[in-house]
Amino acid sequence: MPELPEVEALADHLRRHAVGHTIGRVDVAALSVLKTFDPPPTVLHDQAVTGAQRWGKYLGLKAGELFLIAHLSRAGWLRWSERLAPAPLRPGKGPIALRVHLGVPGQAPGFDLTEAGTQKRLAVWLVDDPVKVPGIATLGPDALAVDADELARLLAGHTGRIKTVLTDQKVIAGIGNAYSDEILHTARISPFATAAKLSAEQVTALHEALRTVLTDAVARSVGQQAATLKGEKRSGMRVHARTGLPCPVCADTVREISFADKSFQYCPTCQTGGKVLADRRMSRLLK
Ligand SMILES: [Zn+2]
Repeated sequence: MPELPEVEALADHLRRHAVGHTIGRVDVAALSVLKTFDPPPTVLHDQAVTGAQRWGKYLGLKAGELFLIAHLSRAGWLRWSERLAPAPLRPGKGPIALRVHLGVPGQAPGFDLTEAGTQKRLAVWLVDDPVKVPGIATLGPDALAVDADELARLLAGHTGRIKTVLTDQKVIAGIGNAYSDEILHTARISPFATAAKLSAEQVTALHEALRTVLTDAVARSVGQQAATLKGEKRSGMRVHARTGLPCPVCADTVREISFADKSFQYCPTCQTGGKVLADRRMSRLLK
């Protein structure tokens, strides 16, 4: 699932390549992705693109007085093309949900919002104010804008597990399953530590880890031209999705906690004093 670094890289690409163009046509291949009906996407025709933004894990393009905002969900992506084919999309065929031509179709660049797999969760809104998107209205402060004192205040109110609290978009915006694994590993904090009970030293370490992990990942994602890839491609992960492999810090074996629809990873030596956490007990604790 694209998180803050990937979405920031896609917004960066749109800022550098889409701003200044005029929207020629918007093709909707999967009507179900559109969560707003008024105004219709045709009102974007002939509107100039003036900006691109990120709110947590939401990506938006500003055109005229409107914002076209997407939540890429688990398997969605934005794919840039220097020259898009002019033929209208065939509804319900393939991974493309929505296509934006930035100029005369067939002669201009543009982008597709795509979604792999059969679970269709990609969502798009067309609004005159970003806070009209329900998920944006309730976002906590952006992860990259939070300083150490604010992080301490945010965590103090939460008796849940730190893994759960860090990925709660209403508390802090932008961090998901992958980067929370990385941040907690870098800070040497157990995913099951109680958020409100972290020591001052732990909160400082967590804040430092949060900044370095996310900033490095944004730079990597921008550097590999995220929007020209077919989907999310991550490198440099230390524990996330590395179950059974050696921890790059201490060489202990990276362990996994799995749930019905996701799993996450940690290093016992670096994070839990060497203790291997049992799956079943922990899935109950995380509820
Ligand atoms: Zn380790």
